[in-house]
Amino acid sequence: MQEAVHPLPIDSLLPDLKASLQKNPNLIIEAAPGAGKTTRIPPALLDPKLSKNGEVWVLEPRRIAARLSARRVAEELGERLGETVGYQVRFEEISSPRTRLRFLTEGVLTRRLLSNPTLKGVAAIVLDEFHERHLQSDLALALLRRLQKTTRPDLKLLVMSATLDAAPLARYLGDCPILRSEGRRFDIALEFLKQEDARPLADQVASALKKLIATKLDGDVLVFLPGAAEIRRAQDACTEIAAQENLLLTLLHGELSTSEQDRAVRPAAQRKVILSTNVAETSITIDGVVAVIDSGLARIAEHSHWSGLPTLPIQRISQAAAIQRAGRAGRTRTGICLRLYTEMDFTTRRAFETPEIQRLDLAGAALELHAAGVQDLMHFDWFESPDAQAIAAADLLLQKLSAIKCNGEVTTLGTKMLRYPLHPRQSRLLLEAAARGVAERGALIAVLMNERDLRIRKVSTATRPKAQAMGESDFVEPEELFWQAQYLKFDFQQLQARDINPGTAKAIDRAHKQLLRLLGQPAADNATKIEEADEQIRVAILAGYPDRVARRQESDNALGLDFHSASKMTLKFSNGTVAQLASESAVRSSEYLVAVEATEKQANRSVTSIIRTAVAIQPDWLLDLFPDAIHEHNQVIWNANQERVEVVSQMLYDQLVLDESRVDFKNLSSELEREIANTLFDAARKRGWQHFVNSEDMARLQARFDFMQRTFPETIWPSLEDDEIFAALKSYCKGKRSFRELCESVNLASVSQTLFSYEQRSLLNRMAPETIHFAGRKNLRINYEFGQAPWIASRLQDFFGLLTGPKIADGRTALVLHLLAPNQRPVQITQDLAGFWERTYPQVRRELSRRYPKHSWPEDPKYPQKKL
Ligand code: ADP
Ligand code: MG
Repeated sequence: MQEAVHPLPIDSLLPDLKASLQKNPNLIIEAAPGAGKTTRIPPALLDPKLSKNGEVWVLEPRRIAARLSARRVAEELGERLGETVGYQVRFEEISSPRTRLRFLTEGVLTRRLLSNPTLKGVAAIVLDEFHERHLQSDLALALLRRLQKTTRPDLKLLVMSATLDAAPLARYLGDCPILRSEGRRFDIALEFLKQEDARPLADQVASALKKLIATKLDGDVLVFLPGAAEIRRAQDACTEIAAQENLLLTLLHGELSTSEQDRAVRPAAQRKVILSTNVAETSITIDGVVAVIDSGLARIAEHSHWSGLPTLPIQRISQAAAIQRAGRAGRTRTGICLRLYTEMDFTTRRAFETPEIQRLDLAGAALELHAAGVQDLMHFDWFESPDAQAIAAADLLLQKLSAIKCNGEVTTLGTKMLRYPLHPRQSRLLLEAAARGVAERGALIAVLMNERDLRIRKVSTATRPKAQAMGESDFVEPEELFWQAQYLKFDFQQLQARDINPGTAKAIDRAHKQLLRLLGQPAADNATKIEEADEQIRVAILAGYPDRVARRQESDNALGLDFHSASKMTLKFSNGTVAQLASESAVRSSEYLVAVEATEKQANRSVTSIIRTAVAIQPDWLLDLFPDAIHEHNQVIWNANQERVEVVSQMLYDQLVLDESRVDFKNLSSELEREIANTLFDAARKRGWQHFVNSEDMARLQARFDFMQRTFPETIWPSLEDDEIFAALKSYCKGKRSFRELCESVNLASVSQTLFSYEQRSLLNRMAPETIHFAGRKNLRINYEFGQAPWIASRLQDFFGLLTGPKIADGRTALVLHLLAPNQRPVQITQDLAGFWERTYPQVRRELSRRYPKHSWPEDPKYPQKKL
């Protein structure tokens, strides 16, 4: 019997809506939750004037909304579900050949588009709850808009939302009209915590409920909690009060059966307390709610930066979401909202959630777009374009997985990968496992990667039995736990007794079976030997994680570290990054491994990746799986012990060395010769030029330059800083292989030759000679010092017969003379020999004659005159 259809605010909008759609295929509808968008608009579109005999599809961001809405609409039409109205979510479809209105979850659309690219037979598509901005709804919108612009200009697109900045969306949809329904809102009394409450969330909920009861509450209470587990705990905590106050406790979350979900939504004889996830925020409206208790938390989709795998961490909701939650209490009259957080907490929250397209891994979406014929994702007409880097990363990964070619074309393998509701990495893993006869285990591992830990309590390595603590794969343990659970027929009590989470085990079982169904493989794997199967599984995992290959850092071996120890191990990855292997990983003895999951640890502004899940691999497998990614390379290395360059030929996977051997120096390419010279030079530079050129000689040369600069300011001399000397040294590195060879050809003279020209050198040698011939003495060394006049030292007697001292620099500079007594001590230092003879010599002579009577000390030292 058809229930009387009660009026809803949106009803008055329907004539305008129909009129608008007849003129313009696109329309945006904005109305508060509960206005009737989801239940009234889709059936209105079935009007033959609008849709002829075509279907109407409604995309829902949540499975629970798709199911409940389809049910409700069928009910209002006085039909059973699956007649005119049906629904399809990930693994479940209810419809018949008569079905014309389908509620679909967003992901289903992209898959349907693959088999029906022009959406033949579909007249209109409604994107519901668009403000949620799921990655899949952005993707669907962009693909539908593209379809509309190419082959289906007649396709009607309706975008509905509770709150939305509609202007940019209207522009994107070709300046389409916007229809709003201003539903009546009543005041809501907001109450924050005065200070943070440290008690478990469930207890806080119970207290808040008591508080509401004390205010003579006469309506239903809606409690927002992050997830199913928190809902169950809150249920336990509230059971007693509910019994006392004759309240009906109901639950609302995605893991419940449809009839259980229905119970939460339906009016009841008793007052209800609905413990719900954020589905009740805007997707599902429950009539009769007058009070809201808001935990301020939700499970929000994220992805691991490491693996791209989805995660659902509990996070603080945005201010916008908190306002929506409170609004649920004021639909029919003034209401109250108790927030289980402080006002300060609220004000520091972000205003809105970031759209998923800006923060989630794009590999899966990218593959779907490529499959839909979009080759260049950078220039695709997105509603809101994701980060270019994120697109590039997604495309690169897809190429590495051989899912697409470099032009964006999807390969045969890529097309197969699209069949599975998995991240492309795991689809690849699954297909590889199937090809290797280990589909069943491959499917299980793909599922295990997505699911939560099977263990209720984490077991640390310390308490783990030793045999289990070492191995080739971190999946051995969860795999075994799962088989155990299956053996125990998922019996709740028995699993709990063995520390296995029964809910998770069942969820894994369901997903596992679904994957095997999709694969169409026999349920049991080919009976290969267990070691062989283990190996095939690890090869399959590698196929899904080609960019996560690592090699243990050699230093760990060299230091003789105990592999069995729980100490952290350093891993070098094929992309050049370094990470630590967590002590809880069992893969402790393999040189090469592939890392599946990691967490990031922040310390002192640097981030260290800690690899939590890994499997051991053989380098040969890389050659088998990714022959194109292997390249050979001659690497020049510096042998510090022997102070020489060596060339090794390396086989590389990206930057990871798989094999290497020494190359002899014959017939090397000029490029390699250059690299050798550079390597030798770099080592020489580190060692310092003083190893090759005598530093005193160099200092003297510098002092001579200094003298020249002062004496002939018009000339220019090199400054001989370290850089100049190294530049000279560099030119000698060509063709050399070791410090020994370099030392043989490098000295002051050779360095000078490269530092300045022949003309400069000859000028230097003429004007600032290193030595001087004088008074019968050959090669008397001239001493140059910075900023000082150059000087020579010689016995006083050598100067007898000279009127003046020797000069250099073309006669410009008289040398400073150190006149030495027979004991080699200077008796005088002077630049003016004539003056010395005149004024000082007579007295010096007297003293010297007394001390050295055997020497001759002439009275007139200027005679007999000598020539210089
Ligand atoms: P909107 O999509 O605008 O948020 P809905 O179409 O979901 O609004 O809901 C409109 C009204 O229909 C709400 O007031 C709600 O109480 C009622 N309603 C919707 N679904 C159900 C259901 N399954 N059971 C009972 N009432 C429902
Ligand atoms: Mg709705």
